[in-house]
Amino acid sequence: MSDGKLYIVATPIGNLSDVTQRAADTLRSVDIIACEDTRHSGKLLKHHGISARLIQYHDHNKDHSAPGIVKMLLEGHDVALITDSGTPGISDPAFVLVRLALADDIEIITIPGACAAIAALTISGLPMDRFAFEGFLPVRVGRRRTRLLSVKDDPRTQVFYESPHRLVKVLAAMREVFGNRNVAIARELTKIHEEVIRGTFDDILDRFSESKPRGEFVIIVEGNTGK
Ligand code: SAM
Repeated sequence: MSDGKLYIVATPIGNLSDVTQRAADTLRSVDIIACEDTRHSGKLLKHHGISARLIQYHDHNKDHSAPGIVKMLLEGHDVALITDSGTPGISDPAFVLVRLALADDIEIITIPGACAAIAALTISGLPMDRFAFEGFLPVRVGRRRTRLLSVKDDPRTQVFYESPHRLVKVLAAMREVFGNRNVAIARELTKIHEEVIRGTFDDILDRFSESKPRGEFVIIVEGNTGK
């Protein structure tokens, strides 16, 4: 019997229609779908009329869950990996499973689609010919500052993810380290309240002093242009 294939499948970052035809076909055809939260992914699958055996693979069980998934692949089952949103592996668990599957020569196929970082960059108005994805900054203030200092001189556009309750603190820390650069804050992409707030750090901090940030955010920061 030949080994199964591992499909890394991107799912929507908000709008449930952002599933490619190939992603839907793949999710319909595999034996098992590994996901972070079965209830969350269950809604997406139901919306597209897809039924499959769901198993959990998330940040807290990945080291334990990945060997079991590889065993299923070695038994000949095709497995799709999805996450709560967007592209698996981009600030989401995928790497442990991908590395383990490769160690057993499992074929891995990408089914590309939505990714908040890329979606935000394309409408940010900041240069996107060269960029650096920084994902989530460390939560601890000292470590966050050290990370920001390490990218301060990078001329490329910087892309960060952040949760709403830390957004203002993170923007203030960036303002302190980077100076008053241009920024684009992409909020609730592909959802009803999608918006991009563009300006300098000072403009944006002003705006958030009036209204509390709500929803999901990508922060795009102009690189160091030597200004
Ligand atoms: N794998 C996902 C991807 O491909 O973009 C990212 C998952 S990460 C756990 C979640 C973070 O992505 C959020 O905290 C936010 O920074 C960003 N994000 C996800 N969906 C978003 C959206 N619709 N609008 C803005 N940012 C979003």
